[in-house]
This record gives sequence, structure tokens and C-alpha cells, in this order.
Amino acid sequence: MTEKIAVISGATGGIGAAVAKRLGQEGYTLILNGRDREKGLALVSQLQSDKVTAEFAAFDITNESEVNQSLQEIGEKYGHIDCVINNAGGLGGRSPIESMSTEFYRSVMALNMDSAFYLSRAAIPYLKKSDYGAIINNTSNAAWNGGGPGAGIYGVSKAAVHAFTRALAKELAPYGIRVNAVSPGTIDTPFHEQIKATKPEVFASWKNNILLNRLGQPEEVASVIAFLVSKDASFITAETIQIGGGQALGI
Ligand code: NAD
Repeated sequence: MTEKIAVISGATGGIGAAVAKRLGQEGYTLILNGRDREKGLALVSQLQSDKVTAEFAAFDITNESEVNQSLQEIGEKYGHIDCVINNAGGLGGRSPIESMSTEFYRSVMALNMDSAFYLSRAAIPYLKKSDYGAIINNTSNAAWNGGGPGAGIYGVSKAAVHAFTRALAKELAPYGIRVNAVSPGTIDTPFHEQIKATKPEVFASWKNNILLNRLGQPEEVASVIAFLVSKDASFITAETIQIGGGQALGI
């Protein structure tokens, strides 16, 4: 059987690490991107002790030449890539639009949108060599509701990722490559570390806006991603799946 190769960006923690563990269980060879070498190598050795083949690819997802060089190395080493999980992203801070610096605006767009563009573009030649190529983008509930306080540009960047998913799905359909997105609601990961530490009562209240009355766990996003890259999802493309326990209804 041909080795199944998965590339996951921002894989060293939160949802990315949960996706790595899940796809590892599904038999994928994992290329785990991140910037923190210590965390990356710790995850690799944890996965290896569970008999998963994994390697760490240290690069900054917002750096075009680093992404291109790394993907070329991965592509040449394995000959093909079966799935790319554009997971890296984040708020990058908070700022109201009125007083937002252009630098901040660009950094948030770079982290969430440029990253998905750079990694997908560099991976396409190798995805075309797969019998079953798939790209999964990680957008957000913020793409629908415009983001929380000071996170408007985060919402804008994720809305761009949502449209990017559809655009890429159209372009890659002739090659049998499916492109889908997940749109998590509030998931309990280091993403919310600051507010959890500084305003625990606010953090605790978030569940009141969620139909299922709790936050999501990273594994609950990973399981949907595992489905979307699998043959069970063979007729699904250009789709964005909300994973928010009903949060999108805005109760
Ligand atoms: P997280 O902060 O734990 O994970 C983000 C990951 O991206 C980290 O591993 C971080 O190191 C990595 N990263 C950041 N900048 C990077 C860069 N320049 N190069 C490479 N890697 C970089 O948060 P998470 O909740 O696991 O978030 C994963 C994805 O899910 C993000 O795209 C986030 O926007 C999205 N998301 C999260 C939530 C949530 O509530 N947690 C909700 C909706 C969407």
C-alpha cells in the first residue's frame, strides 16, 4: 500500500496536535509544521512511541520562501502528498478597527489567509500525484459573526479562508482533489489561554451561548477533519462544516 502523507500546519498544540494524533491513528505518515522545535520534537517522539511515523518541519507559515522550500523538500522526499491541513492561525492580538495599525491588519491576514494560500499553492503539485488528494482549511465561527471584541480582522481573515476553500475546490476538482473547511466554534485550546488566565469568569460564561452548553474539545474537530480527508467523504467538496455545538445559532 502506498504511504499516506499528511502535512499539518501549526501542529504543535491545540487542534493541530489533536489532528496529528487522530491522523496518526488512521495510518498517515505525518509532517508536522510549527515554529517551536522543542514542542515539535516532543510531539514527534510521543507519536513515534505510539508507532506513528512523523517528522517535524520547522518553518514560519507566514514566510513564503520558508514554506516553498520546506514543501519542496517534503514533496521530493515522499513523491506525493495526500492531505494538507491548513490549521495554523490565531487572533494575533486584539484591536478595534478604528485604531488598528496597518502592520497589525497585515499580520492577522498573513497568519490566517496568506498561510493557507502559501501552503496550499506549494502542495498542489504533490497533491496532484496522490490518488486521493484533500485540503482542509480551518476557518471559524468568527467568519460568520465578524469576530469578538477587537477580533474583527480575525473574522475577516477567516471569511477569506472560507471563500478560498470554495475557489480552490473549483480549481482542483478536475484533479480529483477535494477542498473543504471546518469552522470551529469555541474550542478549549491554548488559543484562549490569556482570557482563561485573566478573566476566568468570562471564559466560564462562554458556554451559555452554546446550544450544547459546553466548549468543544480539539479531538472533536480532529474527528471531523479525519472524516473529511477519508474516502467516507468522497463526494464532499467546497463544504464548510460548523463544529460548534450549535453556537452558530447565536442563542
Ligand atoms: P492554538 O493557538 O493552540 O494553535 C495555533 C497553532 O498555530 C499553534 O500551534 C501555533 O504555534 C501555530 N502557529 C501560529 N503562528 C504560526 C506561524 N507563523 N507558523 C507556524 N505555526 C504557527 O489554537 P487552536 O485553537 O488549536 O487553533 C487552531 C486553528 O483553529 C487556528 O486556525 C484557529 O484560528 C482555529 N480556530 C480555533 C478556535 C478555538 O476556539 N480554539 C475557534 C475557531 C477557529
